[in-house]
Amino acid sequence: MDNIDKSVFLKCIECPTLGWISKRNRIKRTRTVNDEFMYYEFKVIKQKAQDLFSSASDAKCKDRMDSIKRTQELINDAEVEIILNPQFICGNLFASFDIIKRCKDKAAGWDIIEVKVGKKNKLKYIEGVSFKILTLINLGMQINSVSIMHINSKFRLGMDDKECFELSDVTDKVDWQTTQFVLMAQDIEKQLYAEEVPEAAIKRKCKNCPLFLECVGAKIKNPIFELPRLSALQLQELLSKNIYSINDISEDFPLTPHQKIVADCIKNNKTYVSPNLKGELQKIPQPFYYLDFESVTTAIPLYPDVPPHSQLLTQFSVHKCLEIDEVAEHFEYIADPKINNQKEIAQTLIACLGKEGAIITYSGSEKLSLLHLANAYEDLKESLLAIVERIIDFEYLIRNNYYNVEFGGHSSIKTILPVLVKDMGYDWLEINQGGDAAATFAFMALGIYTQEACEKAKEHLLRYCKQDTFAMVKIHKALLEIASAEMV
Ligand code: SF4
Repeated sequence: MDNIDKSVFLKCIECPTLGWISKRNRIKRTRTVNDEFMYYEFKVIKQKAQDLFSSASDAKCKDRMDSIKRTQELINDAEVEIILNPQFICGNLFASFDIIKRCKDKAAGWDIIEVKVGKKNKLKYIEGVSFKILTLINLGMQINSVSIMHINSKFRLGMDDKECFELSDVTDKVDWQTTQFVLMAQDIEKQLYAEEVPEAAIKRKCKNCPLFLECVGAKIKNPIFELPRLSALQLQELLSKNIYSINDISEDFPLTPHQKIVADCIKNNKTYVSPNLKGELQKIPQPFYYLDFESVTTAIPLYPDVPPHSQLLTQFSVHKCLEIDEVAEHFEYIADPKINNQKEIAQTLIACLGKEGAIITYSGSEKLSLLHLANAYEDLKESLLAIVERIIDFEYLIRNNYYNVEFGGHSSIKTILPVLVKDMGYDWLEINQGGDAAATFAFMALGIYTQEACEKAKEHLLRYCKQDTFAMVKIHKALLEIASAEMV
């Protein structure tokens, strides 16, 4: 169907080019395990929410046009109080809702309830539902209230589903946003139905746009988006001066020390090695333990006594080296997905990490997880805090002491590994993203996979986590070689 839905409308507001291309389904993206889990989780939560309205009539049919027709029949039937999955078309706009309720005082109109997986009232929720309300207003429907139905933070597994949700009234916010959309709607429709794609102009949105490299980015060498942690203010100022390339940033433009290093490397096509790098590396005490965690976060808890949206550790990998690049031992752990094993993870880890030597991580998340465990288990607190004291974050160390133009402004392990260690990367792995690892574990915990699929998935997960810590072993060696070469 050639209609404008919520997603296309909102994209067009951010960028008419992006909206126009999205409307024609021209953005290709591979569906990941994480995408599948998010879709699964939303479906389950929506179903749970809708089940609470037992007297409701469902407007959903296989075909969209049939759903729209069925919705109208239910709206016209004054006896019907609650409609699930209603769909509407008005002119070029198409909107579908989760739940709508006819007010007791029929003249007051309808109460709208949208179900969301996230725990906060994000702006994107308000914008999304405001677009849908715009469609209803155009149809002449009266709206009494708009609410978002979230998972209640007090919900625990085993409680009645009635206690699963809380409602937050967003009527005022949606009123304001819908008024803005009313003013924009005509222009947006014009842009979306134009014969030719609207001319692309560089803007904030381009930073994370999947089309950047084939769109405005195609003509920009060293785009300003490669500057790490570019603030909204910096970006706005650069764009207002028509500066799109790092090469065009003047010396007096206010940059952070790290941004200055990156800009200098890019402008002069050179690599930065801090004079402190060797000293920093030499300070790291032996033996070296390289540590990586994986974790999972779900809206509906996977285990009893766990609040919604809690981050739970699922596995770890530790490579132990007595000398640089000399692996003496490898430890790994993956939790039984059927039970909450946080304490066992903590105990096993304490046993693996010994009492001395550095614990090398990549990013600050391991430290945070350990502090979280220390808070949760009083009897393990001392040992876990002792581990935290030994942590050295390689991402932080690299950010402060080394930059290679091939990093492209990033510092994640997946970006820097193939630059520092040729022929090493993540592409060969079955699971090669943290989000996919978390989703795979969640599917196992929910009993969605067969026993055989679970065994395979565990193998893949262990391999993925192991690659992270082995990558750190090799990065450590590469950094030392760079620092030593610099000192010659
Ligand atoms: S790269 Fe920028 S201009 Fe091009 S489609 Fe994306 S957001 Fe729009």
